[in-house]
Amino acid sequence: MHRSILIERENIGYEVEMKKQDMTKEQIKKELKSLFKSMDFVSKSFLNGKNITEKESRLFFNIYQQLGTAWEFLGLQCKHWEGYKKIKDGKEACKICGHIKGVDEFYYLIQKKGIKKIGMKLRPNSKKTFEDKRKAQIVNDTINFYGALVNVDVHNSYKSSLFGDKINIAAERSVSLKEDDIKCHIDRHLISIKMNKGRKKFGKKKYGGFPWEIKKKDLKNFPVIFDFDEKYRFLGLTILK
Ligand SMILES: [Zn+2]
Repeated sequence: MHRSILIERENIGYEVEMKKQDMTKEQIKKELKSLFKSMDFVSKSFLNGKNITEKESRLFFNIYQQLGTAWEFLGLQCKHWEGYKKIKDGKEACKICGHIKGVDEFYYLIQKKGIKKIGMKLRPNSKKTFEDKRKAQIVNDTINFYGALVNVDVHNSYKSSLFGDKINIAAERSVSLKEDDIKCHIDRHLISIKMNKGRKKFGKKKYGGFPWEIKKKDLKNFPVIFDFDEKYRFLGLTILK
């Protein structure tokens, strides 16, 4: 049984998206049973096959990965109806799909080449105001991608007592990117960039203002270039580091 090697391997395979499908318990059991048979057959041939060529080995590996994707897809639909059985290291696995108890989520298997995709674009999906953020949350997830942190936070409207009185927080989709000490935040109303230049000394107070509110001699401290067209319509800006 070598199925466990699959979920621990990263960067290979395919993305699996959660999809609601109404397969019955019996269907899932049957599908998983024949899937496990195929996986065992492939892993046996792949790992124990004598005189196996490199090309064949690669082929078996790819088939195994694809079976693994199917396993994960079916596993997402299993409600672990028949309980868990003890396996090694004191862990417990679902009798039907092999899901390890206490492990909240499945791993994403992402293809090594090409654009990586995890999840769909989500937006607030309810007009209701929820009791708290937890109930209003649709997704709040972060990925560390080669050292850059990307967070996506999507939630419906909810009541918050963060500022003393209960106030309603509006539904929002916000995305932030953190690279070194610079954080860029985008939501429906704002794009903000924060420079946390750790080693540089800043004053204690913090001000903000439109460019026309600031004196020209002070503006010269800001390494910002505005992009605009011939009618002075704003196109973007560049900040020199
Ligand atoms: Zn299960």
